[in-house]
Amino acid sequence: MFKTRLFIPGPTPINPEVQKALSSPMINHRGPEYEALQKEIVENLKKVFKTSNPIIVFPSAGTGGMEAAIVNFLSPGDKVICASIGVFGDRFASIAKAYGAEVVKVDFEWGKAIDPSKLQQALDDNPDAKALLMTHNETSTGVTNDLWAIKEILKEREILWIVDAISSLVAIDLPTDELGVDVVVGGSQKAFMIPPGLSFLAVSEKALKYAENAQMPRFYFDIKAMLKSMERNQTPYTPALPQLFALREALRQILEEGLDNVQKRHKQVGETIRRGIKAIGLKIFADEKFASNTVTAIYNPEGVDVRKLRSFLREKFGVVLAGGQGAIQNTVFRIGHLGYVDVIDALTVLSALEIGLKVLGYPVELGKGVKAGEEFIAEEVQ
Ligand SMILES: *Cc1c(COP(=O)(O)O)cnc(C)c1O
Repeated sequence: MFKTRLFIPGPTPINPEVQKALSSPMINHRGPEYEALQKEIVENLKKVFKTSNPIIVFPSAGTGGMEAAIVNFLSPGDKVICASIGVFGDRFASIAKAYGAEVVKVDFEWGKAIDPSKLQQALDDNPDAKALLMTHNETSTGVTNDLWAIKEILKEREILWIVDAISSLVAIDLPTDELGVDVVVGGSQKAFMIPPGLSFLAVSEKALKYAENAQMPRFYFDIKAMLKSMERNQTPYTPALPQLFALREALRQILEEGLDNVQKRHKQVGETIRRGIKAIGLKIFADEKFASNTVTAIYNPEGVDVRKLRSFLREKFGVVLAGGQGAIQNTVFRIGHLGYVDVIDALTVLSALEIGLKVLGYPVELGKGVKAGEEFIAEEVQ
């Protein structure tokens, strides 16, 4: 294939400067050069997370960060509420269970956001719950939860608020301190536009107090060891240097563009995709009010073998789309539109999709999706 165009919700494409940073020569991870690297990264991560809380970087998949967000703050037998709207909410519950938490799972219909009144009821019914686990942006359904609505029902409660923001951070606003989220988990291969292999954890003072008594077993993911080393801009174990070189470069670029502009760009890309998809005649899985600006799940078009459609797009155009996950594996396919993407990328995937659908016999008028996107951009520009 001449060119691969990733439209999956991670790993996302990376830009040439980040690519270059990845091939930098190794440095001594105990030397001054490393200390400057870590210092800059942590300072810039705080700007992205909008927090003055410490931020810990683990060399791990995002799921490792989720695990760290549980084992450092809880003890076996602790009751936790897990609000789930899809695959990743379910995963949070599974991790907590694996470490012996008593999980009260509050499920919401897939495609919908968390209903704050139902969650409030669960909080009222379980006043002894130690933590609330939830996903900010549910990647399997393309739904973004409203964190402000959750903040509203959490006020005056002691419960620890733990949020998986792996597919939202950078792209969708998450003002950690203003919201008062205690633990925010991020991951590298989504909107940070660097390769997989890093997770991030912002940890509030309240969470650090929980950490004092937390009895769940941990070693590699122990934040106390991390925080201690971080006082000297070091890590207890060898850091993932190539990833950190890439992260330093990506953060510089994100802040140079301006976080607000990055988020505006994602909003425009998300909106373009949604308008285009609807104009083509396909149906979006998410409740529109909570539709995600980083990933869109689309009902499989009737009469079309979606696996064939995805193969066609991949083989002919190098356009890679994602399938469905979990309970909706055979109901939807997904377009990831986060990280190093812009509106022209959105129009690219819409036009490829139109052609693919047409070739596979789905009735589509070529150009409709692209036109809807173009009209929207024209409105924006005015
Ligand atoms: C991608 C993703 C994860 C998992 O990340 P891995 O790096 O695959 O472990 C967790 N939560 C959400 C919301 C995600 O999008």
